Amino acid sequence: MKFENTLEFARQLDEKDPLRKYRDRFLFPKVNNKPVVYFTGNSLGLQPKNAKDYVDEVMKDWSELAVEGHFYAKKPWWDYHERLAKPLSKIVGAKPEEITVMNTLTVNLHLLMVSFYRPKGKRYKIICEEKAFPSDQYMFQSQVKFHGYTPENAIVEIKKRKGEHNFRTEDILSMIRDVGDECALILIGGVNYYTGQVFDMQKITKAGHDIGALVGWDLAHAAGNIELHLHDWNVDFAAWCSYKYMNSGPGNASGCFIHERFHDQREISRFEGWWGTSKDTRFLMKPEFEPMPNADAWQVSNASILSMAPYLASLQLFEEVGMQALIQKRKVIVSYLEFVLQEIDKQVESTFEIITPANPKERGTQLSVFLHGEGKKIFDYLMQNGVITDWREPNVIRLAPAPFYCSFEDMYSFGQILKEGILKKANQLSSEL
Ligand SMILES: *Cc1c(COP(=O)(O)O)cnc(C)c1O
Repeated sequence: MKFENTLEFARQLDEKDPLRKYRDRFLFPKVNNKPVVYFTGNSLGLQPKNAKDYVDEVMKDWSELAVEGHFYAKKPWWDYHERLAKPLSKIVGAKPEEITVMNTLTVNLHLLMVSFYRPKGKRYKIICEEKAFPSDQYMFQSQVKFHGYTPENAIVEIKKRKGEHNFRTEDILSMIRDVGDECALILIGGVNYYTGQVFDMQKITKAGHDIGALVGWDLAHAAGNIELHLHDWNVDFAAWCSYKYMNSGPGNASGCFIHERFHDQREISRFEGWWGTSKDTRFLMKPEFEPMPNADAWQVSNASILSMAPYLASLQLFEEVGMQALIQKRKVIVSYLEFVLQEIDKQVESTFEIITPANPKERGTQLSVFLHGEGKKIFDYLMQNGVITDWREPNVIRLAPAPFYCSFEDMYSFGQILKEGILKKANQLSSEL
């Protein structure tokens, strides 16, 4: 498609957008009395308007039924979380029984590592990407120390080549072969949080299995964003948070995927609790742990219903729309944003550089832009003028136009505000000279 950087053209794209009506299903913050251009759906998705109804329903059932709500609420609480498994299984490409929703992301990755990071003999190393999300780094360090190793020795980081912004699949695969039978676990962010690079999860998972390692994915930036086929890719386990592209609300629950081949392994190492036991016998309060025959066996505590409610509300929207439609729009809106950035770049003295891969197969909803020079001031200008983005040291803003609620007109308006900001900066500097 041939793009144009005009308001008229952007509005034409919006008119043709089959998802345009979904914008109205979300609540937008306002700056200067206008809804913002929201680029931080990769950090905290906007609130779907139906979320409140789902929360209110729980509050009402609680007030009217109290403990009886576990069994007699409109959506009984004792198996409330099970309602999330099916819609999630479609989003991440799994069977519903391979999904469970519980706790929060880092907690879940730790719990999953109890099962899937079992260092033994010379096989004890973890392969991850360099500069992983800090929580993941702390997790790796504390896990290897917990097992008696040192991070220097037991954590192997995949590196980028000098001067390059992204990882090369061939480098990752050759690193995996090099570590070989010393590798116990490969655990990488499916989409890199900083650059937005999408990893070739299928190839990497296979390479890991070829050397006898287990392979898990942190899908914080991938779930609800890109196409996933966790079951078919033979991924061992994965987890994600729901408050980013899945719009479930701040700090909300995390989803886990555990491949079905592990479900009947009775001896698997696992930290257990009563919500992981068979539903048929759970309330007999027996001393023996009888696991659920699915991913729910990894659940520890009873579900946090007030956080499941807005998550379920948001999944309702995903059910309505479907991942395919979101992916379709995402490809166009991200390309359009890229085009707008390139156009602005031609009109002002070049001050920025997109560090996200240009190949649409290697990126999702996010473009990370390196702002040279006066980056922080341009960022401040954007924020003051209704463009919500985020700042990552040393000089990067991340722009994630979530296809659910961002419009093509938003991309155009952002371009204009960015240009204004850069020109004002330039004028200000020259008047100061
Ligand atoms: C957002 C994010 C997290 C956040 O973890 P919480 O446990 O939910 O606070 C972890 N890892 C990655 C890669 C993330 O992007």
